[in-house]
Amino acid sequence: MATHQTNCDICNRLAAIREGKHPSVIAELDTGFAVLGDSQFFRGYSLLLCKTPATELDELPKPTRVRFLEEMSQLAEAVRKATGAFKLNYESLGNLVHHLHWHVFPRRESDPDPKAPVWGQMPKPGSDADTQSKFNPERDRGLLESIRAELHAIRARA
Ligand SMILES: [Zn+2]
Repeated sequence: MATHQTNCDICNRLAAIREGKHPSVIAELDTGFAVLGDSQFFRGYSLLLCKTPATELDELPKPTRVRFLEEMSQLAEAVRKATGAFKLNYESLGNLVHHLHWHVFPRRESDPDPKAPVWGQMPKPGSDADTQSKFNPERDRGLLESIRAELHAIRARA
């Protein structure tokens, strides 16, 4: 069984967030931090990084697990409202980094292949398209603030 890794990329990111050194933070939630993804090829792609360094959902105590799933759903709703996405994709893989996190992808009818999963559609690492789609704090500030505002409104109603 996969176990949480030492020198975990997500734990390192959580440390940077807590030090105020992570530019793409949308919001701190009860169970995790919502951030914009490193690639913005799918504009609005966001993640929920679990505060608990668990590998699988069943390792979380039930109240935390339920809250984590609810907060992922809130983030997804905020992404949909902020981007006008046609559809949302929710994914928790953890094959590379064994630390629970959700990927939330807004999907559009204009995607290269709107019916297929996102993973084969991202630009090749190192390509111009990849470089151009990297998170850019200045370019993406408005997007980030829109998602944050929607998320706060959703949570205020919850
Ligand atoms: Zn970790």
